[in-house]
Amino acid sequence: MAKKLAVIGAGLMGSGIAQVAAQAGYEVTLRDVTDEALARGRDAVRSSYERFTAKGRLTAEDAEAALARITTTTDLDAAADADLVVEAVFERIEVKREIFRDLDRIVGDDTVLASNTSAIPITAIAAATGRPERVVGTHFFSPVPMMPLCELVRGHKTDDETLARAREFAEGVGKTCVVVNRDVAGFVTTRLISALVVEAVKLYESGVASAEDIDTACRLGFGHAMGPLATADLTGVDILLHAAANIYTESQDGKFAPPELMRRMVDAGDLGRKSGQGFYTY
Ligand code: NAD
Repeated sequence: MAKKLAVIGAGLMGSGIAQVAAQAGYEVTLRDVTDEALARGRDAVRSSYERFTAKGRLTAEDAEAALARITTTTDLDAAADADLVVEAVFERIEVKREIFRDLDRIVGDDTVLASNTSAIPITAIAAATGRPERVVGTHFFSPVPMMPLCELVRGHKTDDETLARAREFAEGVGKTCVVVNRDVAGFVTTRLISALVVEAVKLYESGVASAEDIDTACRLGFGHAMGPLATADLTGVDILLHAAANIYTESQDGKFAPPELMRRMVDAGDLGRKSGQGFYTY
């Protein structure tokens, strides 16, 4: 019998997770709060499958069959028979805690509850449930169908079986996993990118090198696909400021203290590509 997955939130990440899971044979229940959000999510999955089909990486029949395995709903109770639930709603702790509290009541005792949060401590989400040992972080990357990594995060009480089941899921949808053994702010990936971006901004801010040269150094010296300042522009200077500030608040480690320039850029609305101006002009 096909394994059952529920995905809560049909936005960018939730629709991507539903897409790769359906393609891997999961029966997927995709839940959002409005029919419009669900329609957008389903459209995103359909057009992504169409792109894969056009490139010859998926047959039209397999794409059709995968799409048919995704059921959309606004009813959280539809998650009741899921073996695994992956939550991918807004990055707001109170919204996530409320969903986990409800899911804890709705799903079977053995169901694993996973969150796709990029920064909220899994332990804080798990504490809203009566099964913290069954709660885990499954941090996918955007765009989910293209990015091969899933960062698995152990909350303070996550047990080994839950981690193994999360790994089985992530590997089953084609991802390579890294395990974060302690629930630290920023996990591994956001900590690394924050440290690199903060240092790059400090070098730029103090006139040590130009933005272009800092990025070129990382691309040609380290083989990075993109330099840290171009990455900040792509991700959003505001998003990375927020990430670094959170990690700094929790860790009190000075290397994450956001440079003044990042704050002033955000105050000025220079957020990167999305605003047309960041470390570069678009
Ligand atoms: P998004 O804004 O695209 O989608 C969020 C969706 O959640 C929306 O469709 C919204 O209607 C829905 N939602 C809100 N409350 C809900 C509820 N109670 N029940 C069901 N659905 C609800 O956000 P996103 O970019 O997909 O991010 C989702 C999560 O993934 C966040 O925790 C984010 O930090 C994390 N994340 C994002 C990225 C990224 O690059 N965007 C990468 C990794 C992790």
